[in-house]
Amino acid sequence: MGTTTTDALVIGAGAIGASAAYHLSRRGLSVVVVEQFDGPAEGSTGRSFASVRGQWADPLNVAVSWRSIEAFRDFPAEHGIDVGYVASGYLFLHGESTWDAARDAVELQRSFGVPVEVIDVDAAQELTPFEAGRIAGITWGPADGAVDPHGVTSAYLALARRNGADVRFRRPVTAVRPAGDDLVVEAGRDEIHAGVVVNAAGGWSGEVASLAGVEVPVHHSRRSIFASAARAVPGRRPMTIDMATGVFLRSEGERLLFGGPPSPRHLGYSTAVDWPWMEELLALGVESFPWLADLPLDRSACWGGTYEMSPDHQGILGRHPEVPALYNACGFSGHGLMQSPVLGELVAEDVVDGVITSLDVAPLRIERFADPGLDSTIGMTF
Ligand SMILES: Cc1cc2nc3c(=O)[nH]c(=O)nc-3n(C[C@H](O)[C@H](O)[C@H](O)COP(=O)(O)OP(=O)(O)OC[C@H]3O[C@@H](n4cnc5c(N)ncnc54)[C@H](O)[C@@H]3O)c2cc1C
Repeated sequence: MGTTTTDALVIGAGAIGASAAYHLSRRGLSVVVVEQFDGPAEGSTGRSFASVRGQWADPLNVAVSWRSIEAFRDFPAEHGIDVGYVASGYLFLHGESTWDAARDAVELQRSFGVPVEVIDVDAAQELTPFEAGRIAGITWGPADGAVDPHGVTSAYLALARRNGADVRFRRPVTAVRPAGDDLVVEAGRDEIHAGVVVNAAGGWSGEVASLAGVEVPVHHSRRSIFASAARAVPGRRPMTIDMATGVFLRSEGERLLFGGPPSPRHLGYSTAVDWPWMEELLALGVESFPWLADLPLDRSACWGGTYEMSPDHQGILGRHPEVPALYNACGFSGHGLMQSPVLGELVAEDVVDGVITSLDVAPLRIERFADPGLDSTIGMTF
């Protein structure tokens, strides 16, 4: 077994681990990344719907998401790498139950510089046709869109390597032991002694934390994405979500992709497509998008994956109170890709400076689950 000593060990080569590795190495730390699979973005990241949006209803999510979109947009100028950001837009269709909060959130979003408009049914129908009967209001974010999840992750890892980071694949972490204030991690045949261990293990973060003897409430939640046959839908549809049902869709290349709420039957990690769930999802989807009923599908282009869910569907960021050398950056519950640039920056700020002053991240502290009196009212997750 080879032994390495490093300032920071990052567990997980998904978007968040890769961004953390880059930002930690940029701040001058020696960094090792260990990943159980053969390559980057093999977990949730590579199975994402890849959408990004500044349309959130609480200041922290607006700030983290919007600054991250700016980072994706500026990647070519700043780093000479295109991570596939396209401003293809994001359309929210609201019913009565979510519209008041959504309308209020528009001002908040604009105060952070997010371009967002309230648009009428006719303008929205030009973008994506839908059943207008139940719609109380619509917002449109023209700078929201999509990125390339593999591109983002590979770019951050390449930049981290340029700063000297050591990225190791096929290294499943199987043990985490204390060594004074530091931790010793066994990953494959390697033993790594680290001052801080960043738990960026996505849906596996709870398992990684349990190796260190502590609890991190993150679990896999299965999702399936369905794809039309090529050229089945004329024109291009922006990301469109019907808030009443949770069904969402967008164009990707020549196909239309759609998905929705989790399959209620499955927990645990799986990349299999949940075909029986498709029938139920379509039944929901046609309520808002009746034309989905006639959409020819291409089974070979559909895919499955898992969200990394926390109990309140918000991420967990910060040192673990019981094992301070363990730094959690996990549980972003289906929005980790879009926030990965800023999350990596926040990890580095906290680890290197000892405190985060650039944003108030208190709502993301793990302590919120132990003490319901703490401010965990992070707001709506749309
Ligand atoms: C169908 C679907 C649609 C989604 N749509 C969106 C979207 O539109 N926008 C968005 O922002 N997000 C979306 N997400 C969520 C997004 O993919 C995640 O939030 C994000 O990728 C999380 O990144 P991560 O780096 O934390 O996790 P991951 O990408 O899962 O990376 C964690 C890594 O840790 C590794 N690992 C785990 N355990 C160990 C171990 N013991 N030893 C070594 N390595 C280990 C894993 O192999 C994995 O590669 C979607 C996810 C799915 C499945």
